[in-house]
Amino acid sequence: MQDRITVEEALRKISAELRLLPTERVPLSAALGRVLRETIIARESIPPFDNSGMDGFAVRMEDLAVVPARLRLDGDIPAGKNPQSGVRPGGCIQIMTGAKVPPGTEAVVPVEWTTEHDPGFVRINQCPKKGAYIRRAGQDVKEGTSVISGGTHITPPVVGMIAAAGYQEIKVGATPHVAVIVTGDELHLEADGPLPPAKIRDANGPGLVAQILDAGGLVTGPLIARDNPDSLIQAIEASKGADVLIISGGVSVGTHDLVKDVLANMGFRQSFWRVRQRPGGPMLFGKLGSQLVFGLPGNPVSAAVCFLQYVRPALFRLGGAAQVNPPFLCAQLEFPVKKPAGLYHFVRGRAVRQEDGRLLVQTTGPQASNLYSSLQHANCLIHLPEDCADPSGGEEVKITRLPWATID
Ligand code: AMP
Ligand code: MG
Repeated sequence: MQDRITVEEALRKISAELRLLPTERVPLSAALGRVLRETIIARESIPPFDNSGMDGFAVRMEDLAVVPARLRLDGDIPAGKNPQSGVRPGGCIQIMTGAKVPPGTEAVVPVEWTTEHDPGFVRINQCPKKGAYIRRAGQDVKEGTSVISGGTHITPPVVGMIAAAGYQEIKVGATPHVAVIVTGDELHLEADGPLPPAKIRDANGPGLVAQILDAGGLVTGPLIARDNPDSLIQAIEASKGADVLIISGGVSVGTHDLVKDVLANMGFRQSFWRVRQRPGGPMLFGKLGSQLVFGLPGNPVSAAVCFLQYVRPALFRLGGAAQVNPPFLCAQLEFPVKKPAGLYHFVRGRAVRQEDGRLLVQTTGPQASNLYSSLQHANCLIHLPEDCADPSGGEEVKITRLPWATID
């Protein structure tokens, strides 16, 4: 047990090997989901000029000392038109939402506060406060200020903000390219054919590919390697162009677990093998040239949980993301959990929000790492660190939401 490293050490060792991928310039229309790799400085103030917050009339306060007041209608400013003259004594100018206010405007009176008078005049029934309904230049953002920093994950409002700040093209981190190899003589790949005796279907190939796509990666594979050195070497060679290689299966201590030795013969620099965790204990990590290699145990839950815990954050970090881990949430454990002593236990759980806002969580049933349905039904992982005793139920535990699931 002592040669196994802790979850924290594993994360540190992975971190130490990560090198930022280069940047590339993309149009904003292709930026969603990418990681920004420059600081966005507002080219102009937002809004760029004082403008009307309402459809109404630009007025001077002096002319509204007594209301109702009858003001001369001196013009009309639609959005996008640069006003040619200012508001003059005894007059007002009709103005639309977003239009630049003319010089001398002290407030905008909403159209709802007015009635039509004789042609060429407007009756103002209510006096606005000075400055009312004028949206000032720079109210949202001042020219030259930094609005979004590098490392930000690009979401729809980030795209909108970048556009508002005056950029059509931005610098983002390159998309990590990930190859997936599934190993095992037992894997039956003819998708629709009946399953021959002693064979199983490949869950990890498609499952891991889906996780990579969900994390914004580019995928090669899944490639299949059988439990013999030649087949493994061939698949590893075919994956050479990828930034990251994920190999499922063959990293444990069975006589047919050849991945570690085959990699070693190919020049693999091992960073660690085996982590004090369940599931995913036999995980392997290191580098083959500049390629990061994650050897994930073949049991589908182990592979999926190791991806979530180690590979997914690494992919985000490669792209340059500042925020890579899901936040811990606090939940009350409903029932006792049997925990393997001395191991960090990632328990598949289902958290439900109570009427008072608190989260209650229970496991999705037996936790063996071959039981894929325990993950499929989960919406979170319950984190029971190495030194934590068997929870007896009722205590607060830390959970992380699964990226594709909701908690409600
Ligand atoms: P291994 O890590 O190769 O010892 O495999 C551990 C367990 O996971 C065995 O029961 C394998 O049959 C199973 N397994 C390995 N690869 C896959 C896969 N791609 N899909 C589903 N199960 C797998
Ligand atoms: Mg195997």
